[in-house]
Amino acid sequence: MSKVKMESYPAIIGGEKVNGKGTFEDLDPSTGQPFAEVARCGEAEINQAVEAAREAHEKTWRRTTPAERARVLHNIAELLRRDHEELARLESTDTGKPLTQTRADVAVAARYFEFYANTIESFYGDTIPTQQGVFAYTLREPFGVAAQIIPWNYPIQIGCRSVVPALATGNCCVMKPAEEAPLTPIKVGELALEAGLPPGVLNVVPGFGEEAGAPLSAHKGIDHLAFTGSLEVGQIVSRAAAENVIPVTLELGGKSPNVVFADADLDGAIPIVVNSIIQAAGQTCAAGSRLLVERRVHDEVLERVAERFKGIEIGPGLEDPDLGPIISEEQLERVDGYVQQGKGEAQLLAGGDRARGDRLGGGYFFEPTLFGGVSHSDRLAQEEVFGPVLVATPFDDPEEAAWMANATDYGLVAAVWTRDVSKAHHLAQEIRAGQVFVNTYGAGGGVELPFGGFKKSGHGREKGYEALYEYSQIKTVAIKYGK
Ligand code: NAD
Repeated sequence: MSKVKMESYPAIIGGEKVNGKGTFEDLDPSTGQPFAEVARCGEAEINQAVEAAREAHEKTWRRTTPAERARVLHNIAELLRRDHEELARLESTDTGKPLTQTRADVAVAARYFEFYANTIESFYGDTIPTQQGVFAYTLREPFGVAAQIIPWNYPIQIGCRSVVPALATGNCCVMKPAEEAPLTPIKVGELALEAGLPPGVLNVVPGFGEEAGAPLSAHKGIDHLAFTGSLEVGQIVSRAAAENVIPVTLELGGKSPNVVFADADLDGAIPIVVNSIIQAAGQTCAAGSRLLVERRVHDEVLERVAERFKGIEIGPGLEDPDLGPIISEEQLERVDGYVQQGKGEAQLLAGGDRARGDRLGGGYFFEPTLFGGVSHSDRLAQEEVFGPVLVATPFDDPEEAAWMANATDYGLVAAVWTRDVSKAHHLAQEIRAGQVFVNTYGAGGGVELPFGGFKKSGHGREKGYEALYEYSQIKTVAIKYGK
């Protein structure tokens, strides 16, 4: 398989490629080797990018019509589709994710541009009847400069998820990708310029959290902040946003359950339950990391899941295995720490160690791991491991299932597997999560569906029509006419 060459990736500020105060090496997690050099932005570049965004907003973007913005967004989508394979390979090298998954990620990124290009033209305010002689209406206006801080697990998907509705509603953006996987967001910035997006409308400033993320989130020149990442950093950036009194969209972690009833179609459920924790090596905010199973089928389900885990092919992302590496040595150690502690507390049914082998070289691979007999209060059932680690617990009835599903601080996703429609509706209402799926997990990318967290999984909503409200503010105008 050919590898992506060691290339330089500058920042994009005001339509120019900018090198910043130096560079950092970007590692391929499938090999542990550096393969790209990336601009290391700091406070100076953040200031420059915020100024460029402000200028672009005042001079051009806020004065464009929705139709003009839609045209450019469609052009960008076309370029993403033109470069689809190159972007997917770059994403696989940078994140370690299997090619099938990164191909889907690039397609979803293109869909964000298409969806918001299509919807922005039907996004408008209301006329509101009030008193006689008063004509009142609302306008949907952009905030101005919108900042996005992006994690490493889905750089192109999440980058576009946060940036595109912001652009569509007339904001100018400063996006900071994660230091572990910044390349495809930079490419999106380049393609946007090629597609005719005016300079300064989308700036991309790669760099480290404390050096680039912190000054961006605390910058007095930003008007909106969208943060996707960990709970701990989410709390830090929220404080900065509160200081500047700006709105913040928080997309944080999860500990999402698959709830499997005895009456479910187990043949249909089990492959999807497995996939929900294997995808992106379990490094997904929405990973199905808890498995709650009705006692009557508990042992059968666990046996079948363990069997599947043992057959999973592990390998470098570009070889398109079932399971790629963990993003870094540090994350690998973290996952290993949880698993080694879990061995003393729960029953290990599959995996349990780093994966080693000829094909795996110096990469950061971990076996798909299943624990049974995990109590809902155990650390493994409460904390986000962010690896291919599934923990299972039995339940006896729908009430107990709902209670267990809700028994963590998080509330991002849940899936309910049953053939009983009443049980499905009951659980969908009882579970406190931003997304509840029934007899499926996720919805094939689903850019049309609002997405976000309950409880400590965050607040605000990305995706769907809902994101247009999130990235715009409403202005009421009331005009008195006549006497
Ligand atoms: P992280 O919080 O460590 O980093 C996220 C981003 O924040 C990175 O760009 C990082 O550079 C930046 N950052 C770090 N410190 C900062 C600081 N002090 N100030 C400002 N920015 C800072 O998260 P991660 O390890 O990249 O991602 C994993 C986490 O993200 C998991 O908890 C996962 O559940 C969550 N996540 C959530 C969603 C969602 O949609 N809810 C999606 C993907 C990931």
